[in-house]
Amino acid sequence: MVGPLQVAERLHATDDKLVTPGPMLLMGAPGVGKGTQAKGIMAAWGIPQISTGDLLRDHRDRGTPLGLVATQIMNSGKLVPDDLVNQMVAERLAQPDTARGYILDGYPRTLAQAEWLDNRLGAIPGGLPLIAVSIRVSYTQLLRRITGRRNCPTCQRIYNVYLQPPKVDTVCDVEGTPLVQRADDTEAVFHERMRTYTALTAPVVEHYRASSRFVEVDGEQPADEVMAGIMAAVARLRSQN
Ligand code: AMP
Repeated sequence: MVGPLQVAERLHATDDKLVTPGPMLLMGAPGVGKGTQAKGIMAAWGIPQISTGDLLRDHRDRGTPLGLVATQIMNSGKLVPDDLVNQMVAERLAQPDTARGYILDGYPRTLAQAEWLDNRLGAIPGGLPLIAVSIRVSYTQLLRRITGRRNCPTCQRIYNVYLQPPKVDTVCDVEGTPLVQRADDTEAVFHERMRTYTALTAPVVEHYRASSRFVEVDGEQPADEVMAGIMAAVARLRSQN
C-alpha cells in the first residue's frame, strides 16, 4: 500500500516546482472521506486541515458557550448557524500556520457560508484563489461507512466495524482502549444528515462546479488513489494560476 508521504514524493518527483497549495476545500456528503483525505494532504503538503466539525467538537468538549449551543444541533444532524461557524472559521484562518494554504473540511456547508468565504478570500490582495474538490460516494456505501465508524478516544485512530475492523473485539489495536461511536453516527441521524446535505450543501457543490477551479473525484477508489488524484489536480490547477 502507498502512504500519503510516498504519494507526495511521487508528485514532487514528476514536478520540479514545489507546489504552494493555497486555500482548498473538500466537499462531499457525510462519510465520503473528507477527514481521511484532509489528514493525508496535510501530512504531505504541510498545511493545516481545518475541520469545522472537529472545531465544534473541541468547543463542545471544552464546554464553551459555542460548544453548548452546538452540541444539541450536531446530535440531531442539523447545521450550526452560519454566523457562529463563519466567526469560528475567521478566527482559525487568522492563525499564521495558514500562510501557505489550508484544507477546509466540512466547510462551507451552505450557500451563505460559501458567499462569506468567497468575499473574505476575494478581499485578500494577491491571495491565491480557492480550489474546490468534490468527493462522490454512493448512498449505500456512505451508510456503511458512517454507521460502522468507531474511533479510539486515546489516539483518535478511526476504524470501521464492517470495512476496517480492529483485530480484537472493539478495542484499539494500538492503545487497547475500547472504541467509541460518535453520537451522530447512528442510522437515524445519518438519514437526517443526508437530508440536510441534499437541501443545503449540495447547492454549494453546484456553486463551485461553475468555477474554473473545481475538481470532482470518485471517492470509492482506494483512499491512496483518491488522494493522488486530488493532489495531482490541485498541483495542475495551481500551475495554471
Ligand atoms: P462533521 O464532523 O463535518 O460531519 O460535522 C459534524 C456536525 O457538526 C454536522 O452534522 C453539523 O451539525 C456541524 N457542522 C460541521 N461543520 C459545519 C458547518 N460548516 N456549518 C454548520 N454546521 C456544521
